[in-house]
Amino acid sequence: MERVEAVVVGAGVIGLAVARRLAMAGLEVLVLEKEDAIGTETSSRNSEVIHAGIYYPPGSLKARSCIAGRDFLYRYCAARGIPHRRCGKLILATREEQIPRLEAIRDNAEASGVEDLEWWEQARIARAEPELRALAALWSPSTGILDSHALMLAYQGEAEDRGAMIAFRSPLEAARAVEDGFLLEVGGAEALTLHCRYLVNAAGLHAPSLARRIAGLDPSRVPRGWLCKGSYFVLAGPSPFSHLVYPVPEEAGLGIHVTLDLAGRCRFGPDTEWIETIAYDVDPARAATFATAIRSYWPELPEDALEPGYAGIRPKIVPPGAPPADFLVQGPEAHGIAGLVNLFGIESPGLTASAPLAEEVARRLGLGAGALR
Ligand SMILES: Cc1cc2nc3c(=O)[nH]c(=O)nc-3n(C[C@H](O)[C@H](O)[C@H](O)COP(=O)(O)OP(=O)(O)OC[C@H]3O[C@@H](n4cnc5c(N)ncnc54)[C@H](O)[C@@H]3O)c2cc1C
Repeated sequence: MERVEAVVVGAGVIGLAVARRLAMAGLEVLVLEKEDAIGTETSSRNSEVIHAGIYYPPGSLKARSCIAGRDFLYRYCAARGIPHRRCGKLILATREEQIPRLEAIRDNAEASGVEDLEWWEQARIARAEPELRALAALWSPSTGILDSHALMLAYQGEAEDRGAMIAFRSPLEAARAVEDGFLLEVGGAEALTLHCRYLVNAAGLHAPSLARRIAGLDPSRVPRGWLCKGSYFVLAGPSPFSHLVYPVPEEAGLGIHVTLDLAGRCRFGPDTEWIETIAYDVDPARAATFATAIRSYWPELPEDALEPGYAGIRPKIVPPGAPPADFLVQGPEAHGIAGLVNLFGIESPGLTASAPLAEEVARRLGLGAGALR
């Protein structure tokens, strides 16, 4: 039987960050990926924003890993030539009753350790973004954008430089905890049984269902997964904005916001739609709802300017209407199985937080708390 020290399931941004971290710790690492390329699911279907850490409960894993990840990413992207831009973001109050919510967001961010927010009045907003209509805004200078695929390639390259390998078209079908690690049933064209000492489940949307196929893991430790789709529409023509623009957040997401890509193009989204099965189509009919939301802060949005873009799916671990859950990095201290870490509910800001989450995995596996590098 083939043996490897550590197996990471999933070659999204989290699995690749974990593979890099475990390889840096000197482990022999194999990444199993069911598709034929890296980052084909949530990691390539998001806003590509380097979040500042504004919205999450102070002290939560989301808040801590986002702030640490933001600082890490600006250093890492600069050092590795990964395209990125610290373009800054505005969070807008467009109605009087939103002002207390904006103040609450500011207070929350400051309690989390985000120290650079500025409160802008109308005149200041108009100078920065003349097309916007808002009563007040929070300005976050440390929010930015990055090329998420280039980030994943950098993680992959560093992991491979230290001996890690990725097996594509290699779904992990099932696993069993044994005395000295795990027996893995790997599918694909050349199905095989593999033994490993460490197993990290970074399967994104599929992490809960995969965890339920790990014999020996108490199923009551595995949260139910919920799918919350977010669609994007692209603006035809040049962007009127040079910063990211967000409304005050809504129920399950951050609201239909303006994101920019590195070429300066403008897209809007994601909205929220709870779904039963994974599907990435964008319904052109949603453009009307988008236009209404966008015109609350950009009244001059031209007619018929929105073109269907793409969609991503948030891997939720709480049902519609429930308060947002924290990232769940579940190690032996929670489920009692040495060498196993499951990552559940790695929704936004998972891209920003990828390196600190990998650090968290290493810690749960008893591989020491290294400096984030
Ligand atoms: C709409 C949306 C917008 C977002 N915007 C942002 C943002 O602007 N900034 C930010 O920081 N974060 C953002 N996020 C969050 C971020 O995109 C995710 O946290 C991150 O991409 C999750 O990465 P992952 O590796 O866990 O999952 P994925 O990228 O989904 O990777 C999981 C991988 O596991 C593989 N896999 C699954 N099951 C198996 C199996 N059994 N065997 C082998 N392989 C398997 C899959 O094929 C996939 O490649 C957003 C998320 C969404 C949905």
